[in-house]
Amino acid sequence: QERSYVMVKPDGVQRGLVGKIISRFERKGFYLKGLKMFNCPEDIAKEHYKDLSSKPFFPDLVEYICSGPVICMIWEGKGVVKSARKLIGATNPLESEPGTIRGDFAVEVGRNVIHGSDSDENGEREIGIWFSSGEGT
Ligand code: ATP
Ligand code: MG
Repeated sequence: QERSYVMVKPDGVQRGLVGKIISRFERKGFYLKGLKMFNCPEDIAKEHYKDLSSKPFFPDLVEYICSGPVICMIWEGKGVVKSARKLIGATNPLESEPGTIRGDFAVEVGRNVIHGSDSDENGEREIGIWFSSGEGT
């Protein structure tokens, strides 16, 4: 079955949005296969976003992801990678449609509440970065 790595970022945790976010994925019909709260060390954040390492916002992005605990999740189901990106909405919350998570809960691109894998390949790569063997099912 197809899997996506989804993460509630520190702002989403601090603002109390974890339950609402999990509900949206459950309501859609996906299956929660891994879940933990995690204080992210910088090396993990850098590895996760390594394709963006040359961007000017990269240092701020790493600092943001490491600024408080995140909620790491594995979601499984038919078409979950693409569908999760639709549930999440566009990167810039001012361009995310209402009804999406970012569209409903965020305004700042640098505080956009949630991450979702952008391909099947990256989904498996990211699950490997954030989860150890024996965590999740
Ligand atoms: P994510 O990978 O977190 O799900 P995304 O796939 O929608 O987001 P990416 O292009 O992968 O978007 O960017 C990763 C993250 O980097 C964004 O979610 C956002 O927090 C941050 N980011 C992207 N573009 C900018 C920008 N122009 N200024 C500040 N932060 C940015
Ligand atoms: Mg991305």
